[in-house]
Amino acid sequence: MSSIILSENLTGLFFKEAEKCINCGACTAGCPLYAYSGLSPQDLLSQIAREGQISLDIPYSCTLCGYCSHICPEGVKLDQLMRELRSYAFNEKGRPARGINYAPVKSHQKYSFSPLFSTTRVPSNYNGVVFFPGCSLPSFRPDLTEKTYLYLQEKMSGTGIMLKCCAGPTLAMGDEKKFQQYYHELEQEFAQWGVKKVITACPNCYKTIKENSGQIEAVSLWEILREIGIPEGAANRKNKPHLSLALHDPCPTRSYPTVHDSVRFILNQLGIDFAEFKFNRQKTLCCGAGGMLGITNPPAALSWMKKRAGETKAEIIITYCQECAVSMQKGGKKSLHLLDLIFNPGVWPNEKKNPTSLRRWYNRYRIKKAFNKFNPGGSKDG
Ligand code: SF4
Ligand code: SF4
Repeated sequence: MSSIILSENLTGLFFKEAEKCINCGACTAGCPLYAYSGLSPQDLLSQIAREGQISLDIPYSCTLCGYCSHICPEGVKLDQLMRELRSYAFNEKGRPARGINYAPVKSHQKYSFSPLFSTTRVPSNYNGVVFFPGCSLPSFRPDLTEKTYLYLQEKMSGTGIMLKCCAGPTLAMGDEKKFQQYYHELEQEFAQWGVKKVITACPNCYKTIKENSGQIEAVSLWEILREIGIPEGAANRKNKPHLSLALHDPCPTRSYPTVHDSVRFILNQLGIDFAEFKFNRQKTLCCGAGGMLGITNPPAALSWMKKRAGETKAEIIITYCQECAVSMQKGGKKSLHLLDLIFNPGVWPNEKKNPTSLRRWYNRYRIKKAFNKFNPGGSKDG
């Protein structure tokens, strides 16, 4: 990957942070960037400050997981510095830096915002609440997306569906200008439909909408399911006796303990016994896909996926993010989406192969068509 020369301001910031770091090593055990570079935060920060330049494989090998900032006793915000470097690289060059592999993210985002794969439909008694499943769940698991929405409609009559992207991948790559453009489009959609509350199934959407749309209440599906209850008949299903399970918390939920509590409440209602990872809840570690690492540095991503999946002896890892579920499979374990435990009794563990990229786009197209038939109340794209 290419290198960039830093501005004086940015170099100064690295000096300041290098001085704050006491080299305690608390952050390194859970840091995919450290696993890749082998440089302690103090060495990394002072090297960047001294040289006034950086090879872009450093910020693009950080998963932006936030473990470092959460754990650091001195308040060093390594994740924010890495984010800043990614945006700086875009602004400095006025185009994506060489070697970061932006093209697949760019086309994913372009199609995700196209009317071919997005829609908003509301019922006639619409009340300003929409279910927002994000991109991954409809791509990989259209069955679970549909079952979840039908259940929400049954329990929360008046809930609409918004199949849209939050533009998180564009922001993670550092293309802030494009992110603002996409996010503005999303905000217009919210305004057009008078959205007051968004129920998110994806932890990245949850975080992005919470951080960027102060006027809208973003709630996670898990908080809602805790409130409305799981479907009748799902309670006390119990584990299959021969299978051991462990729960992985997705890293975008780090700052939201109510989400962690709600997920555990639901698992208890389901009667599921599970083991906790040593690094869990607010101290959870990235699955290896954060910060688009699977695109920007695939070998580093795979190596971290194996490390994270190997941290439990359990045969199956339960999680509540579709991307994490895929990462845990790539890391060598079977994985299970929490929605499978709720809506697919008896069929887990799901032994089906993951859909190909083409099939995933087809799934998104198909579910959009299906949702367009559900709600007679109104739609934008018809
Ligand atoms: S955000 Fe995660 S990968 Fe990046 S420096 Fe912090 S702990 Fe390491
Ligand atoms: S936790 Fe903070 S002080 Fe300790 S090594 Fe990491 S950045 Fe430095």
